[in-house]
Amino acid sequence: KSKSLQKGQSLFFNHSIEKQVKRDFLIETELRTALVNEELSVLYQPQISVETGDIIGVEALVRWQNDSLGFVSPAEFIPIAENTGTIHELGAFVIEKTLKEIKEFNLCNAFSLNLSINISPKQLLDPKFTESVVSICREVAFDPQFVTLEITENVLITDLSLVQPVLSKLRSSGFKLSLDDFGTGYSSLSYLSNLPMNEIKIDRSFIDKFLTNSQSESLVKTIIAIGRFCNLTVVAEGVETKAQYERLVLYHCDLIQGYYFDKPLTYKSLVERYQSSNIDMNWTG
Ligand code: C2E
Ligand code: MG
Ligand code: MG
Ligand code: MG
Repeated sequence: KSKSLQKGQSLFFNHSIEKQVKRDFLIETELRTALVNEELSVLYQPQISVETGDIIGVEALVRWQNDSLGFVSPAEFIPIAENTGTIHELGAFVIEKTLKEIKEFNLCNAFSLNLSINISPKQLLDPKFTESVVSICREVAFDPQFVTLEITENVLITDLSLVQPVLSKLRSSGFKLSLDDFGTGYSSLSYLSNLPMNEIKIDRSFIDKFLTNSQSESLVKTIIAIGRFCNLTVVAEGVETKAQYERLVLYHCDLIQGYYFDKPLTYKSLVERYQSSNIDMNWTG
C-alpha cells in the first residue's frame, strides 16, 4: 500500500513538473514575439521622501499581457527572459521607453523626477551595456544623474569580479546605483563597502513583518543604520500601512515606496496625479 502511495505521489510530482515545464516553454515562445506584438508596457511606482512627503522619483516596473497566457508577473518571466537571452531586447525596451516618458514628464513639470530602472545581471554582463545606456541618455537628453540602476543583491555573490568593473564604469558615467532586495542575499558588509553604491532598498519581506516581528524590526533598524554609516540612501519598499510608514519616519528611513502611497501607475495616471498644477503635488496622507 505504501508503495502505491509513493507511486501516486511521484506521479503527481511529475505531473506538476510537466505542467510547469509546459508553461515555461509557452512563456519562452510567447516572449519572443511579445515586443513586436506590443504586449509589454511599463508602470511607474512613486518614491516619496520621508522628510518632505514629496514624490522624488519613480521605479519602472515592466508588465506583460499576452493573449494565451493572460497577465504574467515579471517575477515569473524575467528569469525565463534571462535564460533565453530575450532580456537584452526587453531591457533595452524598458530603458528607452522609460527615459523618453520621464524626460517628457520632467520637461512639462516644475521639478524633475528621478528614474529607477531594474537591471538584470545578464544585462550588466553584456559588454555593450554601459555604452548603450549612455547613448540612449544622450539621445533623449536625460542626465544620468537622475537615473538609478537597481541591481539585486544576489548578483554580487556569483559574479562580483565581473560585475564590479561594470558598476564602476556606470558610476563614472554619472548613473546612480541601488542594491535591490537588500537583506535577502548573502552579501556582507565588506561587499557593500567595496561597491560604488548610492542606495540600498530594504526588501519588502522585512517591511511586511517588522511591526510584529522583533527580529525583522532589528534588521530594518540595522539596515538603516548601515545605510547612514555608509552614506547611502535607504529606501523601504512595500510600505502598505500608515503604521509602517510612521515607524519608518521614526527610524529616519530616507525614501518610501509602497501601496500606502501608490500602486505602480501607468504613465498617463502618473501625469494626471503628479504633474504640476503645483497644488496637491505633495503627498499629505
Ligand atoms: P522589485 O524591483 O523588488 O520591485 C518591487 C515589487 O514590489 C514590484 O513587483 C512592485 O509592484 C511590488 N510592490 C510595490 N509596492 C508594494 C506593496 O506595497 N505591497 C506589495 N505586496 N508589493 C508591492 P513587480 O512589479 O511584480 O516586480 C517584481 C520584480 O520583477 C521586481 O522586484 C524586479 O526584480 C523585477 N522586475 C520588474 N520590472 C523589471 C524590469 O523592467 N527589468 C528587470 N530586469 N526586472 C524587473
Ligand atoms: Mg505572440
Ligand atoms: Mg526594484
Ligand atoms: Mg526589491
